[in-house]
Amino acid sequence: MPQPGAAGTEDRMINQLTISELTRKLARGEVSSRAAVQACLDQIQRVDGHIRAFLSYDSAEALAQADGADRALAAGQTHAQRPLLGVPVAIKDLIAVKGHPLNCGSKILGKFVSPYDAAVIERLRAAGAVIFGRLNMDEFAMGSSTENSAFEVTRNPWDTSRIPGGSSGGSAAAVAADECIASLGSDTGGSIRQPAALCGVVGIKPSYGRVSRYGLVAFASSLDQIGCFAKDVRDAAMVLEVLAGVDPRDSTSVPQPVPHYSVDLNGAIKGMKLGLPREYMIGGLDPDVKDAIENAVRQLAKLGAEVVEISLPHTEYAIAAYYIIATAEASANLARFDGIRYGLRVEGGDPIELYSRTRGAGFGAEVKRRIILGTYVLSSGYYDAYYLRAQKVRTLIRQDFLKAFQNVDAIVTPTTPTAAFKVGEKSDDPLQMYLSDIFTVAANVAGICGISVPCGFTSAGDSEPGTPTPKLPIGLQLLGKPFGEETILKIAHAYEQSASRRSEKPPLTL
Ligand code: GLN
Repeated sequence: MPQPGAAGTEDRMINQLTISELTRKLARGEVSSRAAVQACLDQIQRVDGHIRAFLSYDSAEALAQADGADRALAAGQTHAQRPLLGVPVAIKDLIAVKGHPLNCGSKILGKFVSPYDAAVIERLRAAGAVIFGRLNMDEFAMGSSTENSAFEVTRNPWDTSRIPGGSSGGSAAAVAADECIASLGSDTGGSIRQPAALCGVVGIKPSYGRVSRYGLVAFASSLDQIGCFAKDVRDAAMVLEVLAGVDPRDSTSVPQPVPHYSVDLNGAIKGMKLGLPREYMIGGLDPDVKDAIENAVRQLAKLGAEVVEISLPHTEYAIAAYYIIATAEASANLARFDGIRYGLRVEGGDPIELYSRTRGAGFGAEVKRRIILGTYVLSSGYYDAYYLRAQKVRTLIRQDFLKAFQNVDAIVTPTTPTAAFKVGEKSDDPLQMYLSDIFTVAANVAGICGISVPCGFTSAGDSEPGTPTPKLPIGLQLLGKPFGEETILKIAHAYEQSASRRSEKPPLTL
């Protein structure tokens, strides 16, 4: 019997290929980049009316880039020189791409078009990628379901009555539905790992400072980090090694050499020590998620890893600290959207009126809620009680992790407490929505790296009579020490290679 995922690539459409499969075919001249981009565009035509991962895309420009890649291949350029030559990559709507709309899922930017490329886009271009499309997101990356987009609700490709996660819901859904080969997202408190888990794809949040934030619209500058979504761990490693590296335009990017992540995936995790934090096995954990994580942990042990219980004692304060720090920083970062500098302007009798009318009309409810909360925690009477205290808790949370990493190579947790929830289920209850980030926010608070890798499915069932629940993906989260991406990629890859059903695709019966 063929091994899962080991099947030939002949029976699959080009848009379903991984980066490693596609680049192999491009190098041999078996397919062209034009055909790859066209296959993605065709898939968008076929499914995106239902999935709504894309806010916009420019087919002609994408095909022109593909032709450029095909010419470079014909002229003898290799993937050793330009690792993503000819590969279509789609972009979350808060990363600047020159000449393309930049809306951050918000109305406040109006018809703004980016005058420059973000650092990550420059790097993707240098590596030969075809950059196309603007992917839907929660407004200014605030949310966990993509329902906070000002434009449309993205649907989960495994069940279109459910959310894809957020805030990078478009980026996760587009990869899961094979509308692109890989995508970029950003993760401030889980926005790459959580949607990756809920859509059944791989998503990596690099350590703070690993990837330049130049050209990423800021939500919470001390937490934000750009990362990627991919169909398998090797692809995520390939994209990360293109994105990573110091950039003089982002003073928080760190001059550490970038390892060859994709070359170092040798499968050897024997003897590695993995920590299972006891504080993460909480009451609200869905039984299917718990089972899947326990199976994954057994599998990792079978591969030779030693699994030990650890404690991260300040875990219970992570959500509170995160939502104070993130809102405080957001309230400052979003002050620039005032109707004067960019995008939307609603006129007023004086500048203050113009400013408040513009912001009143341009921002959605969640963004306003966070600006109010952030302004409150920074105000003079409350600064010490909230913001300063949250910063102290932040230090304790970071110390918990650094202490744990003295004894273990990586930490293993569920990515989310439940699988994808229904559209509308939590949108009226912001606190419930915030709690869905319970396993992801601490990594941003501590500045460490994390990856979510698919580890199984919920059991399909008939929870409500007449409305069968299809099986839904579950994600395993691996957390690594600062700049320890190499280790978590290695573990995730070893796990992925050994796990069954890894090549399963959403049914997309639309
Ligand atoms: N869901 C979290 C929030 O709403 C995280 C968002 C993110 O990582 N951008 O803040």
